[in-house]
Amino acid sequence: MSKFDNAKCPKCDKVANNRTEVETLFGIRNNSGYEMVQSWCKECRG
Ligand SMILES: [Zn+2]
Repeated sequence: MSKFDNAKCPKCDKVANNRTEVETLFGIRNNSGYEMVQSWCKECRG
């Protein structure tokens, strides 16, 4: 299991359970080949 397989928003408690959901609900940021999961979901980031 990697950090891209699940995520939880600390603001609204939304949970993503696989990479597709993480990408869809939270978003994955690519910094010159280094991938980061956004900590807040897209809705809470506005
Ligand atoms: Zn949220």
